[in-house]
Amino acid sequence: MRIRVPLLVKILVPLVLLFVLTVTASGYRVYRESTLRFQAEMNTRLRRLATLVAASVPTDTLRTITSPADTNNAAYTEVENVLDQAVTAGNLAWMGIYYRDGNTLYYWVDYSETGVGYPFLYATPAHFAAYEDLQVHRVQYADEFGSYYGFVAPILVPGGDGEEVLGLVEAVIDGESSQLLERDTLERVLPFLIGGSLATILLTVLITTLVFNRPLQKLKQGALILGAGEFGHTIDLRSRDELGDLAETFNRMSTEIERLYRERVEAERRRREEEITRLQESERILEERVTERTFELVQRNKDLTQAQVELAAARDRAIAADRAKSEFVTFATHELKVPMTSIKGYAELLAAGKIGAVSQSQADILQSISAIVDRMATLVSDLSDVSRIESGMLRLNTRPLALLEAVNEVTLSARHQLDESGLRLSVQMADDLPLLQADRTRLVQILTNLISNAYKYTPPGGQITISAAPVPAAGDGRMVQVDVADTGIGIRTEDQDRIFEKFFRADDRRVTDVPGTGLGLNITRNLVKMQGGRIWFDSEYGHGTTFHFTLPCAQVSTPFGSAGQPS
Ligand code: ADP
Repeated sequence: MRIRVPLLVKILVPLVLLFVLTVTASGYRVYRESTLRFQAEMNTRLRRLATLVAASVPTDTLRTITSPADTNNAAYTEVENVLDQAVTAGNLAWMGIYYRDGNTLYYWVDYSETGVGYPFLYATPAHFAAYEDLQVHRVQYADEFGSYYGFVAPILVPGGDGEEVLGLVEAVIDGESSQLLERDTLERVLPFLIGGSLATILLTVLITTLVFNRPLQKLKQGALILGAGEFGHTIDLRSRDELGDLAETFNRMSTEIERLYRERVEAERRRREEEITRLQESERILEERVTERTFELVQRNKDLTQAQVELAAARDRAIAADRAKSEFVTFATHELKVPMTSIKGYAELLAAGKIGAVSQSQADILQSISAIVDRMATLVSDLSDVSRIESGMLRLNTRPLALLEAVNEVTLSARHQLDESGLRLSVQMADDLPLLQADRTRLVQILTNLISNAYKYTPPGGQITISAAPVPAAGDGRMVQVDVADTGIGIRTEDQDRIFEKFFRADDRRVTDVPGTGLGLNITRNLVKMQGGRIWFDSEYGHGTTFHFTLPCAQVSTPFGSAGQPS
């Protein structure tokens, strides 16, 4: 999170810091200069006093003082007076004269008569330096009486090589008093510094608040009101400065925003109106189109109804025609059966010589007539079946029955043809084959068609196999699948899609040479379907064909059947 620093603080803190820094620096400078000046003055005073006393001390009188602190000596008192006067004049802490003996300094004359002649153990290198180089030296030291600061000046007298040092004059003031003076200067300056600083800070805060804060608060308030949506709101700030300019700019901006807002609202209003007009126009066009389209639809509906009526009439006509055709075929086939039976009966009667003797050629012709009538009878029967199936007039009578019984019936009646053709027949059925739910006559018809096709289209010496087994069916039900396989001529691939069509016969001499109507498989497929089964085949041209069909099992199934019964 960023810390929020008010603008006032941002302006005030650097200002105050700068001010305090400036005041402190100036104060320090004042203090420093006054201290230095005092120091310089003090130095000059002390140096002068030391030099003056060193120059004016009666050296002859001094020489008469033989031992240090010889206070009873009149000379001592004279020199002491000189020192006393100098101390008073210079406001010194102490003044004295030393003499040197080897590496030891001794008090010679002490203005305050404290000198007892003991070696001055605190003599500093500066004291010795004054002896060596005959110059005035600054000294600073401390002893049990306090700390001292001042100058030592050599008392010069003519000697062997020019001048020599007779002794040293030392003029010092208390170290403490010097510090006190410094402190005094500081104490004088400090209240001004602190007071001035505080006053300035207060003044700065006051001025800043008056000059910046109030106008800024007003600006902030104004911006909040503007932000709340009161466009055109202005601030009453009459300062003739940058803040006044800012307020004026704000007011102009607010007015401009209000103008733009009004324009925008107006434009939006116009746009909406145009939109509404456009929508109304589109609606009108749409309504027109809907009306047109409705009209068209009504018209088309009329046409459609008309077409439907016509179609229904056509369908009715077609149904009627189909029914008429079926009725005709049924009628015709029924009417044909009686004369054909008569023709066949008469031909057989004639052939048997019961009417009169017939020659061999006549007998052959009569047999041909009988065969032709047989073929006609088959055709008539097939046509009748097709017609009845298509017109829905064929009724089935399904009941539980054993497949083997029907198979035996068919194989028995076909035995003659099978033997003639030199074909072998084998029947393979599971022992526990369930009963079928089927129409016995139609089941026999289905088997007859498939078995007769098998022996019609299988060359002599071939094999026909009839097998059956239960298979699972959709749901819980069960079916029986019957397979009639032969090793005959097979069906060409291009013919395989067409063999269930009505009147289709393969264009093959081995087919066309045997009698047939091309209706058998069509009828067979319809009969299987009508009983709830399915029929299909596998065939390899030149190698044989197997027809498979399924029929549903009876609800209560009794195992029945036998396996591998060759006949
Ligand atoms: P068709 O009276 O000619 O036998 P179908 O409807 O029974 O009429 O058979 C239609 C055609 O299917 C046959 O003409 C024949 O070409 C072919 N066909 C049927 N069964 C067999 C078969 N077992 N082997 C070869 N071709 C067959």
